[in-house]
Amino acid sequence: MEGLVLKSTGSWYDVLGDDHKNYKCRIKGKMRTQNITSTNPVAVGDKVLFEIQKGSDEGVISEIRERKNFIQRKSVNLSKQIHILAANLDLALVVATPVMPRTSTGFIDRFLSTAEAYRIPGGVVFNKSDLFDEEVNEYVEALAEMYRSVGYETFIVSAIDSGTLVELKDRLHNQLTLFAGHSGTGKSTLINALIPGIELRTGEISAQHLKGKHTTTFAEAHPLEEGGFIVDTPGIREFGILNFEKNEVSHFFPEIFKASEGCKFNNCLHTIEKNCAVIQAVEDSQIAMTRYHSYLSILENEDIFR
Ligand code: GDP
Ligand code: ZN
Repeated sequence: MEGLVLKSTGSWYDVLGDDHKNYKCRIKGKMRTQNITSTNPVAVGDKVLFEIQKGSDEGVISEIRERKNFIQRKSVNLSKQIHILAANLDLALVVATPVMPRTSTGFIDRFLSTAEAYRIPGGVVFNKSDLFDEEVNEYVEALAEMYRSVGYETFIVSAIDSGTLVELKDRLHNQLTLFAGHSGTGKSTLINALIPGIELRTGEISAQHLKGKHTTTFAEAHPLEEGGFIVDTPGIREFGILNFEKNEVSHFFPEIFKASEGCKFNNCLHTIEKNCAVIQAVEDSQIAMTRYHSYLSILENEDIFR
């Protein structure tokens, strides 16, 4: 039978079969060695072929269908190993908020550039709009407009006001959508509002509490009533590109990439070079200063490059 991997906990996989039933699956021993650079050969979002053990809800995965895309991150155990976070994503959204606790544009941009690197459409959900005063509201509207102008989808919502969620809900229909976000931004509250009855834990685990602890977390795909899935990434605080070249970073900032066509040197990194069209565009306010700073701070992070 064919199925979709909803959760992977290391040795067991929750698979939703084409018969709409849930199965607990293991993988064939042989498959484990196929992709040695990755700690997990099967990831959330994978479409798999599996054999059902007669008369049970258990199965054995025998094949992984080719992935249309996937997001990788460094394995939590600090080894050089790569962990595939999720596969076959239609959309990757970062939940952000300007209030309690404010999400930095640096965090948003690291997430969006990662989505770009893996060729997954990205977007930003600005949450807690019920708490915005006029000034904050103006700030968020301007920020959202800037991201839209770059090519990202944006949503301004309040997880506690279902009227604000209509557009977002519509967009998620029949899609496999990754949700990421700093702890406290309201990602769990939002997912609870989008999927009645799922009841993820909210507000209990502070960042302080998690610090220094080795909490193993697993991404999980939750089915939406109307069709589609939300992939929750609990406890995953950082997203970022991995194993790229420095001169590739600008490819992950669409507006910087576009402007770079006008640079004098084709190996221009847009930092100190003369006749750099990107620096000119920043000076002319055609590229947002915050985006340029995010670009520079990724360039400065040596350990993400090959
Ligand atoms: P997570 O860590 O991103 O999953 O955040 P939670 O869903 O646990 O929410 C953190 C806190 O923010 C909780 O106290 C929530 O009740 C609150 N919260 C979440 N969304 C909203 C919102 O849209 N408006 C307001 N006022 N509070 C929210
Ligand atoms: Zn340049």
